[in-house]
Amino acid sequence: STSLKEDDPEVFHLVQREKWRQFSCLELIASENLTSQSVMEASGSPLTNKYSEGLPGVRYYGGNEIIDQVEVLCQKRALAAFHLDPQVWGVNVQPYSGSTANFSALTAVLAPHDRIMGLDLPSGGHLTHGYATAKKKISSSAIYFESLPYRTDPDTGLIDYEGLASNAAIFHPKLVICGASAYPQEWDYARLRKIADESGALLMADIAHTSGLVAAQEAADPFVHCDLVTTTTHKTLRGPRAGLIFFRRALEFRVNQAVFPANQGGPHNNTIAAIAVALKQAATPEFKQYAIQVCKNAVALSQHLSQSYGYKIATDGTVNHLVLWDLRPLGLTGSKLEKLCDAVNITLNKNAVHGDSSALSPGGVRIGTSALTSRSMNEHDCRTVADFLHRACQIAIAVQASSGKKLTDFVTALEGRADVLALRKEVT
Ligand code: PLP
Repeated sequence: STSLKEDDPEVFHLVQREKWRQFSCLELIASENLTSQSVMEASGSPLTNKYSEGLPGVRYYGGNEIIDQVEVLCQKRALAAFHLDPQVWGVNVQPYSGSTANFSALTAVLAPHDRIMGLDLPSGGHLTHGYATAKKKISSSAIYFESLPYRTDPDTGLIDYEGLASNAAIFHPKLVICGASAYPQEWDYARLRKIADESGALLMADIAHTSGLVAAQEAADPFVHCDLVTTTTHKTLRGPRAGLIFFRRALEFRVNQAVFPANQGGPHNNTIAAIAVALKQAATPEFKQYAIQVCKNAVALSQHLSQSYGYKIATDGTVNHLVLWDLRPLGLTGSKLEKLCDAVNITLNKNAVHGDSSALSPGGVRIGTSALTSRSMNEHDCRTVADFLHRACQIAIAVQASSGKKLTDFVTALEGRADVLALRKEVT
């Protein structure tokens, strides 16, 4: 067959434009990264053509001799990358994404209506950890299980372990979930284990955001204390879009059954091959250096914003790849700064900060350094990025003062402004 360019120029050009966007913008979305060429080659390979329901050696389809080898290789590399003893830990590499990995993990160890406790979404937790609002159960993890979230302290932004422990003593969860989408500090896994044990609960860590740092041993090791560890593969781990579930061997059968046939069909073998490639990379000294630099860059960016410009950073800094910038003292919403940044080719996202009651009108933005570091940026570069962010923020404050509070008016007022155009030109 012919190339994409010849076969479907419309899609080809959209791909080219997105590629250009990714490299001409400053990509600060904390859940994103830039994968290597080899990961993309495996991801776009003929392995996408094959059906292989089941596990290596026990498939529902013929012709899986090579696919079996790919999946076993991926499993081995996953255990090696996270320094795990294969006697104690196993891994399922088939989840299509972090969300399906989490739901499969939950259904593996829980019955319908069993109780779970995860970090609340406005505190930085993920939807799939039992998110519900006062009015509605949003995530299927809250619809099919009874969820009582724990929170961060509204003053410090740090996990309120005491609140979690006292509620757990009343609620008696079957599963405690730790891990977050927007938490810039380290987790106290030993303390969480103790809280879980007091209720006879299992402990699961979702390290989607920090798994690259965990593999590089630049973040605390959740495996020592947890029964299950889930992750996405496309954030700090720098792989294709997918998920992994690590389980203690006693849970092997239940986890594998939960992935297939309970929640998924045929594995995406092209993706599994691409995960294997990323995991090989994650076990190298170069990746360790990358992970160290990701954290140094986040610290440099955070410190420049707080110390040079006096902005408020949630939890007063970061120990990982992300910075939560609290905009509330400026009277600005996360949505407005996000829109302003979009207009100047800086990509980041609005995010709740501690004390925000709702995720719908967040008081801050989340900034990540994984993608910038993949582009070889260092602390000096990240301070320049912080300078850009400062200018963006000042423009946003000025635009808000002249356009009123509504987001639509704000966006209209951005058009054609000389300071916006000048900043966009410099960023690009
Ligand atoms: N878990 C956490 C902590 C996440 O931050 C995310 C996504 O951002 C997910 C799970 C879900 O991953 P996916 O988008 O691949 O379903």
